[in-house]
Amino acid sequence: MEIRKKKNRKWKRWALMMLAGVSLLAACQSAGSSTRIADNSQLKVVTTIAQIAEPMSVIGGDRVRVESLMGPGVDPHLYKATQGDIGKLDSSDVIFYNGLHLEANMLKVFEELGKSRPVLAIGEAVNAEQLLKDEEGAIDPHIWFDIDLWKQALAAATEVLKQASPEDADYFESNKEAYFRQMDELKLEAAAKLSQIPKEKRVLVTAHDAFGYFGRMYDIEVVGLQGLSTEDEVSLSDIEETVKLLVDYQVPAVFIESSINPDSIQAVIEGAKKAGLTVSLGGELFSDAMGDAGTEEGTYLGMYRHNVNTIFVALNGGEG
Ligand SMILES: [Zn+2]
Repeated sequence: MEIRKKKNRKWKRWALMMLAGVSLLAACQSAGSSTRIADNSQLKVVTTIAQIAEPMSVIGGDRVRVESLMGPGVDPHLYKATQGDIGKLDSSDVIFYNGLHLEANMLKVFEELGKSRPVLAIGEAVNAEQLLKDEEGAIDPHIWFDIDLWKQALAAATEVLKQASPEDADYFESNKEAYFRQMDELKLEAAAKLSQIPKEKRVLVTAHDAFGYFGRMYDIEVVGLQGLSTEDEVSLSDIEETVKLLVDYQVPAVFIESSINPDSIQAVIEGAKKAGLTVSLGGELFSDAMGDAGTEEGTYLGMYRHNVNTIFVALNGGEG
């Protein structure tokens, strides 16, 4: 019976790898070394992006062990599960991902894993009426920049933790409430700061359209060289149109993103220069990935605050 179970497990792991596009050779090499780390009482939670992992590690406290698959600088739109990821996902108790087509290349894997454990697309648990769409009707997945929406998403994830570990439900709830109070404070702080930027200067130009919710929250016009996803190439006309906009609105600064190649933004700065406008590089924003773990920017609240301060200084010319 035991042998049979193990065999079945290996087969499932192999099937998951094939779904994820991991090579057969790699799958065979690792199949024999599949071991589960000694179980303790902690729930093992695996997430895609760190914007989910870090807050859930705060809410879950010492009752959970949370790991994100995508580290600093990683672009979730293009990300494909690695062989190591499959192992982590397969030995998890609970999986959270953003959904709304953010992790476009991982959906089949999540579908398969969802048969054997809770797998939640936390972005799809929020009020759908509050979601933004582009001209083609594609939903904007970058909802972590809307603090209220992200609270809804994290609350849905917290409910899954409670179901997985009912004896810890009160503990998770009180941690969540304390964390949400910090999110509320951050929202007020961001609004107070960004509202000081004169209205006509509130134009945020970045490499891709990750800041739609941020712009909606703080009344900032947002322009991304690429659309909601990074799957398409930046075209020359994208750059030309953006340069024209910079000149028309006399925008003082543009921003690179930690998970996106900065070349297109550099091309915009060069283009503006040729058109007679000096545009500075306003700094690096965290859009789809956070900073290094263990740093302030490696936390959701810290990376958000970094973005607010960076945008404020560059557009307002003021002090952070
Ligand atoms: Zn994005």
